[in-house]
Amino acid sequence: MADERRDTGAGRDAGAERDGRTGAGGSGPRGPRTRAVRPEEAEAWAALVATARRTVADGLVVGTSGNVSVRVGDTVLLTPSGVPYDRLAPDDVTGVGLDGRQVLGTLVPTSELPLHLAIHRTTDAGAVVHTHAVHATAVSTLVPELPPIHYMTEALGGPVRVAPYATYGTPELAENMLRALDGRTGCLLQNHGTVTYGATLDQAYDRTAQLEWMCRVWLTASSLPGRTPSLLSPEQLAAAQERLRGYGQRT
Ligand code: 13P
Ligand code: ZN
Repeated sequence: MADERRDTGAGRDAGAERDGRTGAGGSGPRGPRTRAVRPEEAEAWAALVATARRTVADGLVVGTSGNVSVRVGDTVLLTPSGVPYDRLAPDDVTGVGLDGRQVLGTLVPTSELPLHLAIHRTTDAGAVVHTHAVHATAVSTLVPELPPIHYMTEALGGPVRVAPYATYGTPELAENMLRALDGRTGCLLQNHGTVTYGATLDQAYDRTAQLEWMCRVWLTASSLPGRTPSLLSPEQLAAAQERLRGYGQRT
């Protein structure tokens, strides 16, 4: 399987080179000229595509909304803009350097490139997931911060902030997001959706799923007329944070 991917990656490049799409430096008539895909990049691409498909399967996005990135060394692989995830093939690997210059593939990277790069440049993130999850997006229109209704707040580093609205794909949105992410591994984008990051694609994805679930809990509890949900105090959150450090199996 890994060998198959490796061959496909190399095959694409050879094919692309033949028809003038790749090579060292410059930009061809059909897009940027890019380098060959390395085996670890082909493997990371397969995992990225699986994660992107999961966001659709789990109802966190509809159609080509949302985007995913994963870092391999100094290269960031990203979902291409506006391409249905079920159509992405092994030889569609799309990647940029940390400076944003395309180094892999010929498909146009996600329009949220500034947002992904902002995280990869300033944190130790291995992966970033952006979705338009329903409950999270609804919460982003109601409050500047998701009230701490559950101890899983601490799984994201503390109460999750909402980044003020800016047009999708703009450096302004990326800046607002970075401020909202301070000390957190996730935030909401006002009237837009979610962003989370983690060491791996699975961790970034899981944080998105937990964030969406918490938003759903808060909306559900808040929707009873005349009732206001109880929230966790800073002390209760601190105790949960401490306990979460030892959560799960000993490694
Ligand atoms: P892309 O298809 O360009 O990734 O855009 C989707 C999106 O969610 C923009 O915010
Ligand atoms: Zn979006």
